[in-house]
Amino acid sequence: MSTSSRGPGVTHRRTLGPPEITGGRPTLPSWGTAAERPLPGRSEDTRGRIIYVYNHAPPDYQCPFCRNIATGRGDFPVHILARYPEVVVKLNPRWWPANPGGALVVPIEHYENLYDLPPRLGAPIQEAARDTALAMKAAFGCHGVSTRQHNEPAGNQDVWHYHLHVFPRYEGDHLYASRPSWAEPTEMALRAHQLRAAWPTR
Ligand SMILES: [Zn+2]
Repeated sequence: MSTSSRGPGVTHRRTLGPPEITGGRPTLPSWGTAAERPLPGRSEDTRGRIIYVYNHAPPDYQCPFCRNIATGRGDFPVHILARYPEVVVKLNPRWWPANPGGALVVPIEHYENLYDLPPRLGAPIQEAARDTALAMKAAFGCHGVSTRQHNEPAGNQDVWHYHLHVFPRYEGDHLYASRPSWAEPTEMALRAHQLRAAWPTR
């Protein structure tokens, strides 16, 4: 490759190169048993090991998703679409304007974010996400499905319990350029009914 052909591209990559590592190598969570795990927001378990990293929930956090899962109640209408041994799928009460009927895949055990999530929950979350996607295809006739998952405020996380968004997608829906609003309760009940009726069977 000639020097002239590299020119601007190389300069650009240098400008956007990897940031200097300031915190050393991260310590992975130890994923002790439920009894060993501390309250959300703590950074050490009973043996003094760091197991929660980069958390933002306050020590007295009243987790809305744990409440939804345990009681079926919440500050907004709660529609549990499916329950699995380790995961639930609930209708998201916030809808993007052209993507009504979005859902959240949520592990039953409380973990704040992707950094904390034990790898053993990866497959159960994936299985629930696939079922959700297939139910959306059957119930809504959507053209496609997208997933999103947010961590920390800069990553647009606003509930401190890991969750995976599953969106029904339509041609030209501008999902990534639009903002959500609270869904209308009657419409939520209808969409929940449609999704449950279309849930894959085994
Ligand atoms: Zn929780």
